[in-house]
Amino acid sequence: MYKRNDGLIKLPNLQLIDKYDRRLNYLRISITDRCNLRCTYCVSDDLHQRLPHKEILRHEEILRLVRIGARLGISKVRITGGEPLIRKGVYDFLSELTKIKGLADVSLTTNGILLRDNIEKIKSAGIKRINVSMDTLSRQKYKNITGHDMFDQVWEGIESAQREGFNPIKINVVALNGINDDELTDIAELSFSYPFHIRFIEYMPIGTSHINNTGKHLLAPEIQERIKVLGELIPVEKGINDGPAERYKFKGAQGEIGFIHALSKHFCNECNRLRLTASGKLRACLLSDSEEDLKGPLRRGCLDSELADVFLRAVSHKPHDHNLVCNQPVMVAGRMSAIGG
Ligand code: SAM
Repeated sequence: MYKRNDGLIKLPNLQLIDKYDRRLNYLRISITDRCNLRCTYCVSDDLHQRLPHKEILRHEEILRLVRIGARLGISKVRITGGEPLIRKGVYDFLSELTKIKGLADVSLTTNGILLRDNIEKIKSAGIKRINVSMDTLSRQKYKNITGHDMFDQVWEGIESAQREGFNPIKINVVALNGINDDELTDIAELSFSYPFHIRFIEYMPIGTSHINNTGKHLLAPEIQERIKVLGELIPVEKGINDGPAERYKFKGAQGEIGFIHALSKHFCNECNRLRLTASGKLRACLLSDSEEDLKGPLRRGCLDSELADVFLRAVSHKPHDHNLVCNQPVMVAGRMSAIGG
């Protein structure tokens, strides 16, 4: 297929294109399975399930894999977790990551707990876009959902990101019936006062989360209907680097509203994602346990070309679609925190 010589081999015009002709140029990386919150809807985070430290990819290992990915056409990277900002050395790692040739977009998903005190370091590292998960505007509910009384700290973190000029700041809101469904309008209303992109995410019934997976799920069309009391939602055209969110804007609003239809409208046909798990597995679909191991070959001293083969193999297994539906929890072998959401 291509000539192997040393680790710096050229990978001529190889692209990560799967058998359904989808070009995979987006790598989401979980850099740790540890988290400082215990969100009820995320996969359970029992201490005994945590990966031992030596099983987690080291920063330099991740950087090497990203360099290989970039030579195969990866141009967009998102750092996630677990909570990425609790990982030791993360800011130096981000600085190295954003220097990698070929990456047009490097972003971060965080729960925002550590944002306020570290926003300058994130900015200096070259990160321009962040997503902050915040499912409620109520301090008490925040505590109920996450297990920690940290709402104020997260909000201050979001404000400090705004002051530092991060744009857009996306606020990820998992829509949860009986938990935050009474707040959807208030949350959407933030887009009038702030330039934030509010993204309502349909809850994915992953089998091991702590919430009732058999109840009625709050789907994007219903959320859209409910928040229409704020005005007409005007569609926003998608940009070239956009993810699966359907984008809208209220007339006169500074920010936007997005919907991620994980259940109600599968976006698999436009999926451009690969995921690198904290333990060094390459996963072509969030909801399929088919994974290719990168850590083993990496630690055995394989050449870049051999690691590139692993990327190609993972891509060749990418399923056409997932079959996630309401009321039927799927069991995935990895935890959300290790896979990265
Ligand atoms: N700790 C970071 C955070 O809280 O944003 C990054 C990791 S978290 C696993 C990444 C994203 O996955 C978050 O926006 C979270 O809300 C989302 N997520 C986790 N479990 C989910 C589920 N069952 N359904 C939908 N989204 C989920």
